[in-house]
Amino acid sequence: MDEFGLDVVDLRKSFEAPNGDRIEVLRGVTFNAKHGEVVAITGPSGSGKSTLLHLLGGLDTADHGTITFDGNEITSLDERKLSTLRRTQIGFVFQFHNLLPDLSAIENVALPLMIAREKRGYAYERAASLLHDARLDDREDHPISHLSGGEQQRVALARALVTHPRLLLADEPTGNVDAAIGEELGKALVSYVRNNGAVAIMATHSPTLAALCDRVFVLEVGKTRINQ
Ligand code: ADP
Ligand code: MG
Repeated sequence: MDEFGLDVVDLRKSFEAPNGDRIEVLRGVTFNAKHGEVVAITGPSGSGKSTLLHLLGGLDTADHGTITFDGNEITSLDERKLSTLRRTQIGFVFQFHNLLPDLSAIENVALPLMIAREKRGYAYERAASLLHDARLDDREDHPISHLSGGEQQRVALARALVTHPRLLLADEPTGNVDAAIGEELGKALVSYVRNNGAVAIMATHSPTLAALCDRVFVLEVGKTRINQ
């Protein structure tokens, strides 16, 4: 499997503006990422970073081009196969954590495994171990809404890692936390990828975070072409 990884070829995506104009956001994005690699996507707000991550995760469909992960062409999968792929191989970390506020930290982290019908004992053991790595042992049973922004984002990373994803997609994961927590999150993400031979694509505005990555790509508004 290791000769594969993520391969993106000539990806294009446009949206329709309210006045009917087409907004061309991605105009032929081509890049690849090998196992064990973390690729940073930078670029100003509106340059298409989130759009690109949504396409990579099969949350939206491209107008043109292909995305292949470990030999599996994501861009040609039907919704049922995409949903299996998302559940079993992809981990997402969003800028605003997207955790369930009324559930506890450990319930949030264990949830993807419960949905995948893993045994409850295993799910909670694995969730506890990730929360331990995130230095949140004493917050396991706290509802998400009682945690600080930095704690919530560390829980969000734990949830993204709980299924051992092969492809980790992070959309400005530290955009909403202070610099020290941001760097800690970035290092945890990078070490997961290196230790597990996963692939991560991370949109970020932070030079500190980009510096932790193996390569940095820049998306530019209006002339979106990523070169390596
Ligand atoms: P970034 O994450 O780099 O800030 P986005 O990918 O969110 O950029 O957005 C890129 C451009 O695409 C923006 O101009 C945005 O307004 C537009 N856009 C994104 N999603 C949609 C949508 N669903 N419908 C219309 N326009 C969209
Ligand atoms: Mg964005």
